[in-house]
Amino acid sequence: MPARCVLCRQPAGRHISLCRECESSLKTNPTNCESCARPLQKSGLCGECQKNPPYYDKTLAPLLYKDAVRNLLIELKFHEKLLNAKILAEVFTRLTNNDCHPDLMIPVPLHSGRLRERGYNQSLEIAREITAIHKIPFARKGCERRINTARQSELPMQQRKANVRGAFQSCRRFDNLHIAIIDDVMTTGNTVNELSKVLKKSGARRVDVWVIARA
Ligand SMILES: [Zn+2]
Ligand SMILES: [Zn+2]
Repeated sequence: MPARCVLCRQPAGRHISLCRECESSLKTNPTNCESCARPLQKSGLCGECQKNPPYYDKTLAPLLYKDAVRNLLIELKFHEKLLNAKILAEVFTRLTNNDCHPDLMIPVPLHSGRLRERGYNQSLEIAREITAIHKIPFARKGCERRINTARQSELPMQQRKANVRGAFQSCRRFDNLHIAIIDDVMTTGNTVNELSKVLKKSGARRVDVWVIARA
């Protein structure tokens, strides 16, 4: 069966289930902060990163969390549309076109209780697909989420930082490794920053953040 485009339902005409037209209609994030990928008018560092430099070194977030991208990510996260992880990992790779090869990818871990509830971790599904393209290994059990934090999306912005404080614990050393944290969407960046802090304390030399979309 030829693949159908998940957005327009027409034959996609290629191996991924997204036709070229629908792919080119996705909202991209071309000019953004070198550190946190917040959309900016011109390249450089945003005011927030200048004031409070994050623990991670660089963020790749090629799409904006809007319209079709938002729908694909919501379907992936809450409705088990795992095919969307494959499509979005492919789009991520094309748009970032990056020649940077981290030693290891770490999907943002879910708390075991949340994982049981949902049955899968969308960040791990994305990491699995990026591995298939880039051949960068990913660690399934490098870090744990030891606190079942309230969902960031349900909290006001000013409470999100405190909500994830101390949420992660590393299960090993990452001495001298260059790591890419994998997640679906980045909003305030507090979650990935907290995880970056833990990875750097466990020896990581460099931590990048790779997310599909920036909110
Ligand atoms: Zn289409
Ligand atoms: Zn920034």
